[in-house]
Amino acid sequence: MTAEVQGAEVGRDQSNAVGDRWWEDAVATCSTLIRMDTQIGGPGERAAAEWVATFLSDAGVGSELVESEPGRSTLVSRVPGQDPTLDPLLVQMHLDVVPAQPHEWSVHPLSGEVRDGYLWGRGAVDMKNMVASVLTVVQERVRGGRLPRRPLVLAFFADEENAGVLGAEWAVQHRPDLFEGCRTAIGEGGGYSVPIRPGERIYPIHTAEKGWAALELTARAAPAHASRLYDDNPVRVLGEAIGGLTHDRFAVHLTPQVEQLLRTACELGGVAFDPDHPEAALSLLGTEAGNAASGLRHTAHATRLSAGYQSNVIPGSATAELDCRYLPGRWDEFRAELDAALGDGVEVRELARTAGLAPTADGPDPALFSAASQALQSEDATARVSSFMLSGGTDATHLQRLGIECFGFNPLLLPEDLDFWSLFHGIDERIPVEALHFSTRVLDRFLDLY
Ligand SMILES: [Zn+2]
Repeated sequence: MTAEVQGAEVGRDQSNAVGDRWWEDAVATCSTLIRMDTQIGGPGERAAAEWVATFLSDAGVGSELVESEPGRSTLVSRVPGQDPTLDPLLVQMHLDVVPAQPHEWSVHPLSGEVRDGYLWGRGAVDMKNMVASVLTVVQERVRGGRLPRRPLVLAFFADEENAGVLGAEWAVQHRPDLFEGCRTAIGEGGGYSVPIRPGERIYPIHTAEKGWAALELTARAAPAHASRLYDDNPVRVLGEAIGGLTHDRFAVHLTPQVEQLLRTACELGGVAFDPDHPEAALSLLGTEAGNAASGLRHTAHATRLSAGYQSNVIPGSATAELDCRYLPGRWDEFRAELDAALGDGVEVRELARTAGLAPTADGPDPALFSAASQALQSEDATARVSSFMLSGGTDATHLQRLGIECFGFNPLLLPEDLDFWSLFHGIDERIPVEALHFSTRVLDRFLDLY
């Protein structure tokens, strides 16, 4: 189902003067978005999408609201560019958030409160911050008649936190026309500062994502009385198999994306990079090291277990579910390493799998990297950009099926002691107010350059 939300003529005369520090409006907009309860599966996605549509309409930008199911709303808007012959840039975002338990938080997770220089609440980093920055930039530009260099397609997806099934995946399958002409996209997952040493920062732009799979392991044997000698006990066999899944059972594979990040870190840190021992460079990355480390290997973690029905009966089977993150395009290699680590006592069944985001054959678009680098340097003179691989997943995995090259670029200059990754889906999720101002100004600059 669709609903047209028409905006007024772009570039219309606006009587309300735009303030000098217009980028600060992103904080109030982000706070408003946080106060809208868009916890996944709840009723808030449509209300939030309608609020964004009204915001854009007031700025003179029309939108189309589409729904995969009632209430599961995705909004798509087109903003004209100075040069209509250029391919539009897709800015892909999501309005849903993961749930939050208020009793675990220092502030109410839907408060959108500003305290101690931070804006607090669920979605403050994932990813209502970027939604607010983009809305603020588009409003400022359209009202001021300052169109971006190329046209924009803004997508505000539903259901990203459930793998995008009712959001981006649905839209790619059922409404590919919404993204017509788009060859590149920016979105969440990269662009934040990683301090290497004082005054030296890398802003990793994610150009690849690991794939994901859920696998079921089953060990089987005849049920038996628990008083017997019985090494075939499926619970023991399964336990031994999953006990073998330590990270060192998976080989180090240095992909070009992670190599570039580690080489840049070594260059800024003044140490030599050893491609035979890439893990030696991880410590330069501080709190980013964990993310980079998981980009060097396939991983598999047991996350669910099930067996038995009475303590004195050895059951006939035991099962475990694995959450697997494999380097994109290397499924067969992952399965070979996994099977070797598990041994031959268990059956393996695939429950679900996504492809991840595989880098393009001829490497990432250099024009986008150049524009991102210049835009960042206009606000942080020492900024260096690098590619990297995200160990989690985003809607980019769906959009690449339309031939759209996706980049994680949500520019944020963060305090050096902030463990940014711990805030994603975490307790006390919050964004520094200054970082939100920074991202708004950098994205604005980026739209002139790219
Ligand atoms: Zn997200």
